[in-house]
Amino acid sequence: MNIHEYQAKEILGRYGIAVPRGRLAVSARDAAITADEFGGHVVVKAQIHAGGRGKAGCVRFAATRDEAASLYEEFLGMRLITRQTGPEGARVRRVYIEEALSIAKEYYLSLSIDRKHARIALLASAAGGGDVEEASQGAFARVLIDPCLGPTAHSMRALAVSLGLESACRRMFFGMVQKLYEVFTSCDCSLLEINPLARLSDGRLLPLDCKISFDDNALFRHSELLAYRDIEEGAPEEFEASKYGLTYVKLDGDIGCMVNGAGLAMATLDALLLRGGTSANFLDLGGGASKEAVRKAFSLIIEDRRVKVILINVLGGIVRCDVVAAGVAEAIAEASTASYALPKRHIPIVARFAGNRAGEGRSLLEAIKDDVFPIRFAETMDAAATLAAEAAGAEGRR
Ligand code: GDP
Ligand code: MN
Repeated sequence: MNIHEYQAKEILGRYGIAVPRGRLAVSARDAAITADEFGGHVVVKAQIHAGGRGKAGCVRFAATRDEAASLYEEFLGMRLITRQTGPEGARVRRVYIEEALSIAKEYYLSLSIDRKHARIALLASAAGGGDVEEASQGAFARVLIDPCLGPTAHSMRALAVSLGLESACRRMFFGMVQKLYEVFTSCDCSLLEINPLARLSDGRLLPLDCKISFDDNALFRHSELLAYRDIEEGAPEEFEASKYGLTYVKLDGDIGCMVNGAGLAMATLDALLLRGGTSANFLDLGGGASKEAVRKAFSLIIEDRRVKVILINVLGGIVRCDVVAAGVAEAIAEASTASYALPKRHIPIVARFAGNRAGEGRSLLEAIKDDVFPIRFAETMDAAATLAAEAAGAEGRR
């Protein structure tokens, strides 16, 4: 789970790390009032779940309250394209106003997980700021943190020296790293990045930007963090699916996939690719998927206008094929009722059931006679992928 910059700074503040004064503006008038409060000079920052905003012109200075208000108006609702958003960009729905500070030097600092060494890795550079992506590898110092010791004074001093921090600043640096490490471990972060970490003209060391990603698999023990979730960022289908215990990830293709188990789902995507098909989504029904979850999964797939063909690949184990079939049958019945908003179109289904109650599942699907969803069956995953890829090609030519 990713969060916004202003939320990340709020968390840093809770752990005793000084951050610039700032407020999320709720209107242009509010932006002006906030600017007054911060002495007129402010930085107006568009909040999206992607970096590169500075270069894209969405981190801008305002010298007066009116400028702050007009930047607020300009940013809000704008579709912002940065080098991290992809060509489709991201809509700006929140605007943050911060006191403007005078920067003497910008540094880069991040904590992430080094899987190979099973440690938290600290990455730092004196080449911080908007051009950090262009900096050479040699411009970064990397320290693996021993989980029993945490960041040590000795290693942090060496790091501070290599960054060229003057002695007065080194103690501040060590104090900050200790607290960041505490944030990282207490909140189960997967990434905590500060770019820039700024040395100000008045000598202070402050995070001017902050990005935090949390490990989704640990969110169950951080209900307090769920309030930071911005469901408007990211695909709404993915959020909808998560409510039913489904793992759904939108992809670029046109074959809707419904599979149980992440491994089988990945293998299914590969099998399709081998036959020239591309999947519209990754979907793992999960271990004990209920009929309702299956019905939801099927609806999510058919609501995706790009989907030309549906591939159902289920290996019954804990999940029963007949329960999956019943969920699909319900979704199809629901889709064919007049009240349903979908326009009628032709979406062939290819189903492959194996394992627990495969025969019963197949019989249930065979009983469905729906013009919109003609169903074909395959015995193996390979055969199913071939049929689905062919059908998608045929549908594309229709
Ligand atoms: P990003 O481009 O999305 O990573 O956005 P940042 O928050 O890092 O802002 C980009 C650049 O704007 C930074 O590298 C800073 O140089 C500058 N900047 C951001 N916040 C402040 C601030 O409060 N004061 C000053 N003087 N500059 C800032
Ligand atoms: Mn930044």
